[in-house]
Amino acid sequence: MSEKQGQSSWQPETNLVHGGTWRSSLGETSEALFLTQGFVYDSAESAEARFKSEEEGFIYSRYGNPTVQMFEQRMCMLEGAEDARATASGMAAVSSAIGCQLQQGDHILSAKALFGSCRFIVEKLMPSYGVECTLVDGKDLAAWKAAIRPNTKVFFLETPTNPTMELCDLEAIADLAHESGARLVVDNVFATPMLQRPLELGADVVVYSATKHIDGQGRCLGGIVLSSKEWIDENLHDYFRHTGPSLSPFNAWVLLKGLETLPLRIRQQTETATRIANFLSEHKSVRRVIYPGHPSHPQYELATRQMKGGSTLVSFELDGGKSEAFAFENALGIIGISNNLGDAKSLVTHPATTTHKNLSQKDRDELGISAGLIRLSLGLENSDDLMIDIDQSLAKAFA
Ligand SMILES: *Cc1c(COP(=O)(O)O)cnc(C)c1O
Repeated sequence: MSEKQGQSSWQPETNLVHGGTWRSSLGETSEALFLTQGFVYDSAESAEARFKSEEEGFIYSRYGNPTVQMFEQRMCMLEGAEDARATASGMAAVSSAIGCQLQQGDHILSAKALFGSCRFIVEKLMPSYGVECTLVDGKDLAAWKAAIRPNTKVFFLETPTNPTMELCDLEAIADLAHESGARLVVDNVFATPMLQRPLELGADVVVYSATKHIDGQGRCLGGIVLSSKEWIDENLHDYFRHTGPSLSPFNAWVLLKGLETLPLRIRQQTETATRIANFLSEHKSVRRVIYPGHPSHPQYELATRQMKGGSTLVSFELDGGKSEAFAFENALGIIGISNNLGDAKSLVTHPATTTHKNLSQKDRDELGISAGLIRLSLGLENSDDLMIDIDQSLAKAFA
């Protein structure tokens, strides 16, 4: 194998094509797919040395695999992280990042507005293991501060949030975490690594569902946890090896290909999202558009400070309830109804009856997830076509 490619002096676009590539002696152009569970040693002595970590090399694909490691390295270069572990799904990344560093008696402080399964991890699963949990309004710095306890070990949040696109101030919350001796874990799925860099703003650990924009073409599940080498060695390394959330080499190979086009896709999808947000903000059947890149967003100033774009998703509230929302979705011709996001295909979802149906009405009200709320993930279609599709469907829904 040749030396791994990629340089920290290169721009992200260049490293996303070349970074981490590890060419075999055959000189293949595309990254090699090592679809193997195990590895054969030259001798019994070599096997012993590898198990003692005295010799470099792979042992078993649950611990590490060359194709998976290429994906991890390319992600590290993009994120500015020292080390990473790729996982089988985004939830495997979130549950590992949280579970590996908490013990009975610890306290986790988390924003309320979370992806449904993330909220299950912090609100239900961790407490069942004796970890206390407090949920706060992620926008409210005073609420974070007031909820800190002597045993608070982890702060957890996502920004922008799903589906109401609210922001948490990463720099300020990282400062609060560090003052109290806790660590900040950020789920950066909605912003993508192209639009927001939490480690630079003070976060300790960043997690992704690679299922979303990183694949970006609706093919496979994946995830990744990124941090310092020290944090991974001390917290995640053993947990990961022995609990086994490892990413399949095949999926790692697909995700490597996805990374090559990530900047192009995010640029185009963000441009389309901005255009659609502007269009919706002036539409008579739309009560409210929620897009961090639109000046009407209550945290627009924070968005311009911590993000390089408004994201590829737009949420909006119809001037109506569930029946208008369903009529709108059912009238769409190009945009598909799906809870997935970040895809090349534009997708729409009605959070109150799908992704957030398990929350109580009170929790949904608190988070602003009304019966008329729609979440739209913009894809790579022509934005004129999308605008016509949305306009005609709104007309039908309110006819
Ligand atoms: C999708 C998603 C996850 C979970 O990822 P999976 O790959 O579906 O396991 C976690 N957090 C956010 C914000 C997501 O959008």
